[in-house]
Amino acid sequence: SQIVRLVESAQMAKAPVQKFADRISKFFVPLVECIVFDKTGTLTIGKPMVVETRLLKSMALREFYEMVAAVEVNSEHPLAKAIVEYAKKFREEEESNVWPEVKQFESITGQGVMAVVRNREVIVGNKRLMLKKNVAIPVSAENFLEETEGFAQTGILVSIDHELVGVVAISDPVKPAAQEVISILTSMQIKSILVTGDNWGTAHAVAKEVGIGTVIAEAKPEVKAEKVKDLQALNFVVAMVGDGINDSPALVAADIGMAIGAGTDIAIEAADIVLMKSNLEDVITAIDLSRYTFRRIC
Ligand code: ADP
Ligand code: MG
Repeated sequence: SQIVRLVESAQMAKAPVQKFADRISKFFVPLVECIVFDKTGTLTIGKPMVVETRLLKSMALREFYEMVAAVEVNSEHPLAKAIVEYAKKFREEEESNVWPEVKQFESITGQGVMAVVRNREVIVGNKRLMLKKNVAIPVSAENFLEETEGFAQTGILVSIDHELVGVVAISDPVKPAAQEVISILTSMQIKSILVTGDNWGTAHAVAKEVGIGTVIAEAKPEVKAEKVKDLQALNFVVAMVGDGINDSPALVAADIGMAIGAGTDIAIEAADIVLMKSNLEDVITAIDLSRYTFRRIC
């Protein structure tokens, strides 16, 4: 239902300008001054993998991952897919796709998921979600989270019956071209900004790796769109590059929305330009080409 709501708000925002969308966006492309980049799947490869597990209670990894995967298999999130994939490692081949049944599954956009598995309440997500659900985070878990963030990894917390039982470290490497693309954009006098739903530590580490100086983290989909509007209020012509459902309001709000071709249909629908080959370099190609065309006709 949250997805439906996002799509509806994206479509509503777009409806009044639909007729002119083509003309307006093509006109704006050569004038871009500011590009807002999403992190996961846009600056990073978008194929996250579990790299470490830190258990806080004595519990077999097999049991831990069985509970976690039972919940995550109901989520479309790339982090969820990474966890389920990794969890299969601990199972026999013939049962690798069979997980315990869950009740009351709930997905909290930009925070995590929860459900009841074998009469126990399992919560999988970020710190904000644990705080909201009154799950205490021990110092050892805090320290491990900080460590993972320093490596640009995302630490996912797991609680069972409101007790934190483990942390899963997930790594999603940045795209090989990302750093060069940002540096070329800078030389073109275009400012790059990172806006992500992920935590501040990981966001800063990724930004540093690719050479972006301005970071906004822990941003819900509406906040991503608000940040775009804030920049527009400062009279910048703003482009947004993203791949996810959570980027669609910002893609619509931007003067030019650019979707990664391999991204979700909803992002593609919300965008003005689709980077068909999912190459970040094509952000530059699009701007270059339009500047050249613009000079020819003006
Ligand atoms: P991004 O903007 O980087 O694409 P999202 O807004 O989708 O990120 O998610 C923000 C954060 O919420 C994630 O980094 C993760 O900590 C948490 N989260 C979201 N969905 C899930 C999930 N299915 N399982 C665990 N954690 C999740
Ligand atoms: Mg994304």
